[in-house]
Amino acid sequence: MSDRVIPIAEARYQPLPLPEPRALEYRAQPVDLRARPMHDLRISVTDRCNFRCTYCMPKEVFGRDYPFLPQSSLLSFEEITRLAQAFVRLGVRKLRLTGGEPLLRKQLDRLVSQLAQISTPEGGALDLTLTTNGSLLERHARALRDAGLGRVTVSLDALDDAIFKRMNDADYPVADVLRGIDAALAAGLTGLKVNMVVQRGVNDAQVIPMAQHFRGTGVTLRFIEYMDVGSTNGWRMNEVLPSRELIERLSSVWPIEPLNRDYRGEVAERWRYVDGAGEIGVISSVTQAFCGDCTRARLSTEGRLYLCLFAQQGYDLRELVRDARVTPEQLSDTVAAIWAARRDNYSELRSANSASGQKIEMSYIGG
Ligand code: SAM
Ligand code: SF4
Ligand code: SF4
Repeated sequence: MSDRVIPIAEARYQPLPLPEPRALEYRAQPVDLRARPMHDLRISVTDRCNFRCTYCMPKEVFGRDYPFLPQSSLLSFEEITRLAQAFVRLGVRKLRLTGGEPLLRKQLDRLVSQLAQISTPEGGALDLTLTTNGSLLERHARALRDAGLGRVTVSLDALDDAIFKRMNDADYPVADVLRGIDAALAAGLTGLKVNMVVQRGVNDAQVIPMAQHFRGTGVTLRFIEYMDVGSTNGWRMNEVLPSRELIERLSSVWPIEPLNRDYRGEVAERWRYVDGAGEIGVISSVTQAFCGDCTRARLSTEGRLYLCLFAQQGYDLRELVRDARVTPEQLSDTVAAIWAARRDNYSELRSANSASGQKIEMSYIGG
């Protein structure tokens, strides 16, 4: 085992006690202790992945013997849909399917079609989207689109095959992902985004080639600061390329100018090329904490609700959703009570150097 990898303690298995349901006037969105509403629900549909990205699921930890969740622990599509409805009743307007690698979950298009039928209390449509490593997208893009998926975000960390393979550590070539992106565009999935995690000394020399490749294609490339998610990636601050520096590098090649954020809680800071070649985004999770506007909740594959990407424990909603006596309103009331007591702000604490403790893995609760 490499000296940089810290073995995971099984923190994920200890749920927090559920609070008493809190009856709500559903037209009013609950806010947490920092006045943040709930806008975005990320749903992890599997904790497994065909990649072993060194910053997310290092092979030394996520090896052959790693105890992934058994099938019986996973929420069924019907359970996920009932839970999503409970969240939508409380103000969620965006659902993002994630993982692990969500396209490893069999018949994911069935779940997409169930989620696509949920409408807002006002009768509007939800923003239904998926984050994938793209390797299986060519095969699934059309069915997902036909099932009602609105948008897709593809993760791609390099155009250079050697660098990409070193990062995904599973020998996947860049061409597979590029074909997945083409298939998504051909299937009519709009607003395509590509996420690139930038690690100094690993793939930061790919920033300009990646920007060059996606400029003028309509695809929005977003650069993510390498984060200290989980407890296994051996994170070091000197491997973070601060967005400020990244913007300087880009603007020395192409003039760029800032744009306004889309909505409160939008994590990406938006920029555009002055010459009209499109938009890019930077996600400064490390150097500029955006906890003050964090409107995201996360549902794990086995139905635990996490209030922060860096949370140590979640709330077990699976028991509740499997209990036939619990009404949809009671489900929403319980989630509302959990949200109302939320005060998470890990990234602000990290900036203040006071964050500590065992965190949950990103491959378990999704990005
Ligand atoms: N497997 C899918 C994928 O890679 O797109 C979905 C799950 S993955 C956990 C979601 C996102 O988290 C990806 O864009 C990935 O690059 C990002 N991510 C994972 N570990 C990260 C880290 N340590 N720092 C920053 N982003 C990370
Ligand atoms: Fe898998 Fe995505 Fe994590 Fe890479 S970032 S190991 S593709 S879950
Ligand atoms: Fe939200 Fe937690 Fe990230 Fe802060 S650290 S932005 S609270 S997920």
